[in-house]
Parts: sequence; C-alpha cells; structure tokens
Amino acid sequence: MTGRPAVQGFAMTAAPFADFVPVTRCHKGQLVVEEILVELDGDLLRIRSDWSERKQDFRRAAEYRVEAGDSPLGRAFHLHRDAESVGRDPDHEPSYWCLIAGDRSECDCKGKKATELHGRECKHVACLKHLIAENLL
Ligand SMILES: [Zn+2]
Repeated sequence: MTGRPAVQGFAMTAAPFADFVPVTRCHKGQLVVEEILVELDGDLLRIRSDWSERKQDFRRAAEYRVEAGDSPLGRAFHLHRDAESVGRDPDHEPSYWCLIAGDRSECDCKGKKATELHGRECKHVACLKHLIAENLL
C-alpha cells in the first residue's frame, strides 16, 4: 500500500485545482489503495499516479481533455488523451467514455477491467466523482 505523498515536499503545479484522490488499483494481483494527484485547468485534466517514495515523485502522468456528454443515466464524460501519450502507448484507446451515476458508474478503460471484478472504480471515475463533488464539473 502506497502512503500519502508528502504534499509539503511535492512541487505542485500552478493548476487552478489540484488535489489528491484515493483510488484502488490492482497491483500484482492485490488490491492496493493509491493516492493520485488530480489537476484541473479549464477542460484539461491531468492525473499523476504511481508515487515513488524513492524519487519523491510520480512515475506516471496522463493528460486528458474533458468533454461533457449526455446520458439519461447520469453525467457522461469523454476523456480525450493527449496525442503524446497515445503515441507512447498505442494499445490503449485514444479516448475513454465515463459515466458517473453513483454505484452504476462506468468507464471503458483497461484499468477498470482490471478492478471491476472487485467492484472497484478506475482512476478516471474516481477523479470525475471527486471533481463533481468539488463543483468543478
Ligand atoms: Zn477509466
């Protein structure tokens, strides 16, 4: 289990909104709770994850353009990945659809598939729920 990164020592960017959000992910067959850093700047969502104690930094960063969609079931969002990370990681989809509807929230990313057996939500759903709760979306 990853501890909460030392916010004091971590150089936050100048994004208008930045906060840590706990997510559950599958790591070597085990469910672990990880704090990820979520930043929102206009319609740009940046998620930094995989905290390294040794580096005192996150190993992964992903950026998405958030587009709100419509769903009769709840709030729908289309997350468009930036071209650079799509190029680095062509196995993944260039964008994800997320539905935020309480316990019925869904996302079509691969992270969700790894954890759905355990009834957990992926980092996208966790982030969007957090931003909605903060009245930012
Ligand atoms: Zn997802």
